[in-house]
Amino acid sequence: MKVGILGGGQLARMIALAGYPLGVRFIFLDPSIGACATTLGSHLHGDYHDENLLAELAKRADVVTYEFENVPAKVADFLESHTQVHPSPKALAVAQDRLVEKEFLNDLDIPTASYADITTFESLQTAMEKIGYPAILKTRTQGYDGKGQSVLKSAADLKSSWQKLEGLPAIVEGFVNFSREVSIVAVRSVSDELAFYPLSENVHRGGILRVSESRENDAMQAKAEDYATRLMKALDYVGVLALELFEVDGELVANEFAPRVHNSGHWTIEGAETSQFENHLRAILDLPLGSTAAVGHVAMVNFIGGKPENEEVLKISNTHLHLYAKAPRKGRKVAHATIRTKTLEELEPLKKCLIALADEVEDS
Ligand code: AMP
Repeated sequence: MKVGILGGGQLARMIALAGYPLGVRFIFLDPSIGACATTLGSHLHGDYHDENLLAELAKRADVVTYEFENVPAKVADFLESHTQVHPSPKALAVAQDRLVEKEFLNDLDIPTASYADITTFESLQTAMEKIGYPAILKTRTQGYDGKGQSVLKSAADLKSSWQKLEGLPAIVEGFVNFSREVSIVAVRSVSDELAFYPLSENVHRGGILRVSESRENDAMQAKAEDYATRLMKALDYVGVLALELFEVDGELVANEFAPRVHNSGHWTIEGAETSQFENHLRAILDLPLGSTAAVGHVAMVNFIGGKPENEEVLKISNTHLHLYAKAPRKGRKVAHATIRTKTLEELEPLKKCLIALADEVEDS
């Protein structure tokens, strides 16, 4: 079987690494010559809009998937008219526009922060009278890892935040006073088999994920599974989906979802019977899904902007290092490491060592 992937970054790389033992081979379409997944398969080098390349990808792959959600609708539709594409172009269309996404979630009775569509400075002023401070102004599209966002602490921030948008369509969201952030990584196969990983508890800084930990038997698991199920059914979804949630007063409020494998699910490589990457492949290739059961306690730490010497990481016991073969750049995820232990007590001190290493090298 051959899987085509739009994008050749670390997510595509980890999908490919999971596919090799199953005999799956890969073809990546990516505009960057050194894209880090491309050593693991064939590389179609060029623009995502190039219809000749897209047609070649569709011809050479049994099924096409992607590692990022900002695939233009035209591209997804073109591919779908030539081959199988999972997840569906509809899931992309919803996930890539924050306004459409919030409306979609609310229509499914999945709670979100209060929000308003912002088209003019006056509409921002009017919306803030209702939403109140603090709030977050976000571009509707192209935002990830906190990009295109600014916090509105008071009316004094309105003008500068509005100007930063440079005319891009935006939404404003009420600030959610959460006690913690969690995500549920869910998977649905072509044959409608559904599976859910134990919740991930996530820590972000500056809008970027830093640390994820598995939380087996979490009190919020059932609610999160219910929301993810509604979403996947409504989108007729196939593949892995990650739903990011805030916990507030024992309730869950949805932030956003990713129609793809997700950073908060990287711990599943060592911390679950079957990783999110393998289950994504099983789902889109219509194979039986693997068990999502947790194996021990795990914490995953991202290395952002730089990475420590391998020896420094590997000398922390129970640690597994994943290098993405990417040049360090400010704010760029270049590697992650996961620690797995039998008990939570063992995990804590080791996790702290790993976080200290990540903080030391960040953007160094
Ligand atoms: P996003 O790009 O929407 O995933 O936002 C990145 C991070 O910013 C989230 O994981 C939160 O830590 C924070 N954040 C985003 N939106 C809100 C909100 N409405 N209230 C509080 N924190 C938020």
